Amino acid sequence: MNYDFSDKEFNLFVEIHTLMGTFAKENDLETKDAEKSEKNTRRALALLSRTPYLTLGIEKADNYNGLLTLMGGMETIAAASPSLFLSIETSTRIFGRILSAWGSASQKEKLLPALLNGQIIGAVGLSEDAMNVDNDPLMTTAVMDGDSAIISGHKQYVVNGPVADWLAVAGRLDGKNAIFLVEKGTQGLSIGGKAATLGYEGVAISNLMFENCAIASSQVIFPENDKTMLTTLKLWENQILIGASLGLMKRAFESAKVYAKKHKTGGKPIIAYQEVGFKLAQMLTLFQASQLFAYKVAWAADAEPKDIESLTLCAKVFCTEAAEQVAGDAMKILGGSGFLSGNPVEEAFRCAKYGQIAGTSTEISRVKIGDSALGLMK
Ligand SMILES: Cc1cc2nc3c(=O)[nH]c(=O)nc-3n(C[C@H](O)[C@H](O)[C@H](O)COP(=O)(O)OP(=O)(O)OC[C@H]3O[C@@H](n4cnc5c(N)ncnc54)[C@H](O)[C@@H]3O)c2cc1C
Repeated sequence: MNYDFSDKEFNLFVEIHTLMGTFAKENDLETKDAEKSEKNTRRALALLSRTPYLTLGIEKADNYNGLLTLMGGMETIAAASPSLFLSIETSTRIFGRILSAWGSASQKEKLLPALLNGQIIGAVGLSEDAMNVDNDPLMTTAVMDGDSAIISGHKQYVVNGPVADWLAVAGRLDGKNAIFLVEKGTQGLSIGGKAATLGYEGVAISNLMFENCAIASSQVIFPENDKTMLTTLKLWENQILIGASLGLMKRAFESAKVYAKKHKTGGKPIIAYQEVGFKLAQMLTLFQASQLFAYKVAWAADAEPKDIESLTLCAKVFCTEAAEQVAGDAMKILGGSGFLSGNPVEEAFRCAKYGQIAGTSTEISRVKIGDSALGLMK
């Protein structure tokens, strides 16, 4: 196992840090306005398409170390803007990977270049109300009518829902799990308005309704192994949430460190007080341990070991809980100023909660890790 990044990888991280850091300073990325969210996402995708970042995990890139390079990149972007990160990663790393891993040659040809050039935004509808721990059986279904698949169902909490050009929707067809590629504006598709959320306020999230929504059969994807489709989608989502946690910890720790050196009480910078120093030490320890864990699962995912699902869940539980603790401690260091809206620490604190709810929730992760330890996991 070697988690060292090469000079080429470091240069990529510096490039995307500079691009996204500048973009974050110049734009309101926590906007509650869906139109502005859309504009931000499109401009950020266009900027990133000038680098190899969007292709990581999708296309083989020379001298980059697969998902390990991607994890370092995700950490960098999530530290610059959690909202932009979630929007970009859902479009690229979930919608994009659905196409690259399972799409037909013509589906790839039609959508992948535009996605990787930052010309289109993708969204993924998996979650439905009252799903079980394995997310099955999906209640969204399609029936064939001539050369069309007619979709009916409902999806909730869809990142990029109101702003996406194309939606990848998980459902059932002919007794199998499938993905339906639905273009925005297709008759029978209704997209809800942007939901108000605790964190990630700059992300356009909505529900989707399908009522006799007809798509061409060429827009249906049947993954090679339909039984592992849902597990794989969750695995990709969990990898993103691990990357998000690293970014949240990085921004919270850095902000708290700078503040502790600058802010004085009783005539001394607060970093001189042992309690504050201990907090920073604990935050850094959690951040570093999370980084190592995240890099390990990214490295392992490329090698595809048998226990990758359980290993990723262990990392997700650890990193997402660490993110909440680090952001909470950072807020204590910032005192009253940390509690005021619109600073990186309170933003990290609000966003950190999401990591434990989304993807495979912390509770369900623990159930599955336990099952895996007992040899019960599918
Ligand atoms: C901001 C946001 C963005 C999202 N984006 C997307 C997206 O783009 N696409 C998408 O498809 N989905 C998305 N989701 C959905 C997300 O991935 C989760 O699937 C969803 O939030 C789960 O919520 P739920 O209300 O259905 O939880 P429930 O499954 O109803 O769970 C409620 C609580 O019960 C616990 N619980 C449930 N079952 C068990 C069990 N068997 N054992 C122990 N505990 C259990 C859970 O851990 C949780 O604490 C998003 C969610 C949010 C909040």
